[in-house]
Amino acid sequence: MKILVVNCGSSSLKYQLFDMKNEDVLAKGLVERIGLEGAQLVHQPGQSDKVKIPAEISNHKIAIKMVIETLVDDSVGVISKMDEIQAVGHRVVHGGEEFSESVLINDKVMDAINKCIDLAPLHNPPNIMGIEACSEVLPGVEQVAVFDTAFHQTMPEKSFIYGLPYEAYEEHAIRRYGFHGTSHKFVTQQAAKLLNKNVEDLKLITCHLGNGASIAAIDGGQVVDTSMGLTPLEGLVMGTRCGDIDPAIVPFLMKKLDLDADGLNNYMNKKSGVMGISGVSSDFRDLEEASEKGNKRAALALDIFSHRVQKYIGSYAAVLNGVDAIVFTAGLGENSPETREQVLSSFTYLGVEVDKEKNNVRGKATDFSAEGSKVKTLLIPTNEELMIARDTKNLVG
Ligand code: AMP
Repeated sequence: MKILVVNCGSSSLKYQLFDMKNEDVLAKGLVERIGLEGAQLVHQPGQSDKVKIPAEISNHKIAIKMVIETLVDDSVGVISKMDEIQAVGHRVVHGGEEFSESVLINDKVMDAINKCIDLAPLHNPPNIMGIEACSEVLPGVEQVAVFDTAFHQTMPEKSFIYGLPYEAYEEHAIRRYGFHGTSHKFVTQQAAKLLNKNVEDLKLITCHLGNGASIAAIDGGQVVDTSMGLTPLEGLVMGTRCGDIDPAIVPFLMKKLDLDADGLNNYMNKKSGVMGISGVSSDFRDLEEASEKGNKRAALALDIFSHRVQKYIGSYAAVLNGVDAIVFTAGLGENSPETREQVLSSFTYLGVEVDKEKNNVRGKATDFSAEGSKVKTLLIPTNEELMIARDTKNLVG
């Protein structure tokens, strides 16, 4: 079965075509600058070189059409006809409380995704455009929605209700939803495989540490708490997002900086985090380099980042009443042995022992705990596209 996985942003469309027989990626690519000048499709068939195809791409429907034409193209294509695509899996950012798992898309599902626009005004609309474009270009092909929030829907009320009047939840759906759910679910399943255990028998803390970053406490395969909230702004200090702050800072800074709600939202989402603290970069590679050269604020940003990760891991170990494995994934989690070692240095009291040599690895599934460590420490590369393809395959049979 061949499955196309689509992830639409407001001006971009990422895709991967999977052959689910061996879960091989037949081709992948990106349409960028949709609706803008300088639009192009960057397509990579299998392991071959990327090809860049500039074009006028005014909307997502034209983008999808171009992707399909490229996939069946005589020279750079990987399938002979469009009918070979048996299903499409879409990443959808917000499923609210409607969706606790992936679903086959129909009119009712589309209505529900539309209702969640209020909760993710920047993300759900392009996701919807992608689904509508595929329905038009690939009529009759089944489509599946896979939500960033769905895996976290098992959280109990005590984890997801804020300390606000209960009416904020009842009347405005203000609660913690959590994000990166597809990644947390994928690494949970892979961690169980690596440990040769059933997911039901494991207490895990999964750390998705990339430009956006979140942590989840997972008991028997069910999320019991996670660090992101109503939006992806809560929790860890991230590349450019502030994470947890005293909420009183919001009205205070709005007055001081003369910013409206959108202005402050932008300040907290785009100008804060390790970028804002260091004044150097949101990229941890740049921060490590600057810190080594003696830049104090870059060093401080890295310290603050690790400190916040430690606080979440510590609190989740308490919430779970113990932990079998701590899992690291995403750009930084997969590629920075230094960050993993630094973060884990706070957990010797739990019996965590890292094997430094085994930890000296990037991007490869590895148990890097020392022999006899009471808690396993794992690097698991995430693969959200494959998780979407797997869910799609399960739903379309
Ligand atoms: P992601 O959002 O998962 O794509 O992660 C992107 C982030 O991972 C970048 O901002 C980098 O800070 C970080 N990253 C990627 N590779 C490395 C590396 N080799 N060392 C340190 N950080 C890295």
